[in-house]
Amino acid sequence: MAARLNRLFSRPQYLVAPASVAVVFSAYALNQNGASSSKTVDIGADPMLRSSSIGSLIGTWIVYKSCRFLRKSIVHTGSIPGLRELSHLVIRHTFFKQFVGGDTAEDCIPVMRRLRDVNIGCMLTYSVEEESAEQSDEHGTLDLIRANVQEAIRSIQVAGEENRKVTPAGQIGSTWVAVKLTGMTDPEILRRASDLILQQRKEESKKGSAQPSVPYPGSPTDLELARYMAQDQTSLSASDLARLRVLHADMRHILTVARDEGVRIIIDSEQSWYQPATDVMQMILSNEFNKLPSPSDSNAPAVFPLLYGTFQCYLQRNIPHLRQSLQHARENGYCLGAKLVRGAYREQELQHWINTGKEGIAPVWANKAETDACYNECLDIVVDEIAKDKDSTSPRVGLILATHNQKSAERLIEKMKENGLARSTVNGVEVDALVRKRIIIAQLYGMNDSMTSWLSHVFAPNGEPMVLNYVPYGALAEVMPYLSRRAVENKSVLGGETGAKFEATRVWGEMKRRMNSLG
Ligand SMILES: Cc1cc2nc3c(=O)[nH]c(=O)nc-3n(C[C@H](O)[C@H](O)[C@H](O)COP(=O)(O)OP(=O)(O)OC[C@H]3O[C@@H](n4cnc5c(N)ncnc54)[C@H](O)[C@@H]3O)c2cc1C
Repeated sequence: MAARLNRLFSRPQYLVAPASVAVVFSAYALNQNGASSSKTVDIGADPMLRSSSIGSLIGTWIVYKSCRFLRKSIVHTGSIPGLRELSHLVIRHTFFKQFVGGDTAEDCIPVMRRLRDVNIGCMLTYSVEEESAEQSDEHGTLDLIRANVQEAIRSIQVAGEENRKVTPAGQIGSTWVAVKLTGMTDPEILRRASDLILQQRKEESKKGSAQPSVPYPGSPTDLELARYMAQDQTSLSASDLARLRVLHADMRHILTVARDEGVRIIIDSEQSWYQPATDVMQMILSNEFNKLPSPSDSNAPAVFPLLYGTFQCYLQRNIPHLRQSLQHARENGYCLGAKLVRGAYREQELQHWINTGKEGIAPVWANKAETDACYNECLDIVVDEIAKDKDSTSPRVGLILATHNQKSAERLIEKMKENGLARSTVNGVEVDALVRKRIIIAQLYGMNDSMTSWLSHVFAPNGEPMVLNYVPYGALAEVMPYLSRRAVENKSVLGGETGAKFEATRVWGEMKRRMNSLG
């Protein structure tokens, strides 16, 4: 029986329903033999698992047991009619349920509430990626973009409504919204604008008028911001310029609604060939929406970054780019919102570098150790900056540490303690209210629940959440690129010793505990 079940779970394309009672009891038998030798998992203190229904535990366990299938299924069955529908059916009842909040923002409300009940915040994101937009023609793309902008606004309103139920009026709540600029305009326009910015940087560097050089894809300068504001990108077509103006207006509208609703906005980072234009847009918007009140204005409301940009540490540019961004914020009197990630498109970056015949070394670090070192240094830089004005109600920088890497989370906590931003107490790590508004650690929903749960216990429960989950939503066809990207690129998260395998063991431990308690 155990061997047959093993075969079944190694080929879960044969599972049409998420689970059946027979599967559970057979699996119980299997794990009595198989799991007993695995490491002991302490699930006793995990209220997220304790509060899950047995059906959802079974679904979760199956998902983690069959992560390899997700990778293969999305990659290999996508174009085979019949098999594709069957695999989508399985995916909806397993992986979609595990990693996606729902089909719509409203569908995510139960997830948001469940997370909030255990003091975990939520970052909603409508998961339409560049791959889905690419398949449309000109009219289709325009319609899709309008729909995406409307959806971003809708999600902010849903988040705002939820926040108001638990957050005092005028304060920023614990539900955030993330957007991708390739979903807000035609990605090709972002690419053309980025190419032009890079070309202009090259020319200025030849003339000797460029700022200290930052490795590809560089970092925005005041000159570029001024040019953008004056719509003086002479080599872009009139229609591209008009569309960039619409993107700017749409983002301003999104941020205005977000400010009114008390919802913070994050701009995700994408492939490096979109970043120069994305960076410029991010800087212009931060300069407007994260502006610090003047020191003489004692009645000014506390301003915390409303807008965060994303800094990818697998790019060799990241340390000088982060330093230049911090300096720009300082000189221009606004707060820099910095989400630090390692980066999700490494394979694509390497391939793109080869395909486009670029010379020299690729823009990503050559090995994981270098990416890790860059991540650590960026973390240190931002925490040191936060420590400089930790008691200020006009802070100059806010941090989202977005990672599933436990060592990175531990480093953050140690660094906060060293800088007097946190202290160990009998109740856990205590963090002052003002600092809580400026530092948060985030994981992708369903990817590493044990780490999210561990973090929600490490910090003393005396205020706003210190940890949040990035919760994507969208119809199944729309979120497939997201699921595929996570599955194919996040092998370490899904497949590593501390990833899916560990999660499956943890969930199994809770199922076993319940069965034992039945007598
Ligand atoms: C809340 C949240 C938001 C995110 N938003 C974004 C975003 O906007 N943009 C984005 O790009 N990513 C984003 N990501 C994904 C993120 O960049 C990582 O891909 C993912 O989190 C895995 O990195 P890690 O820090 O969790 O852990 P780890 O498992 O320690 O690191 C894996 C990462 O290390 C790097 N790496 C792996 N092998 C090598 C190698 N041989 N050489 C060099 N580097 C290597 C890669 O970046 C890889 O993703 C987000 C992640 C989270 C949790």
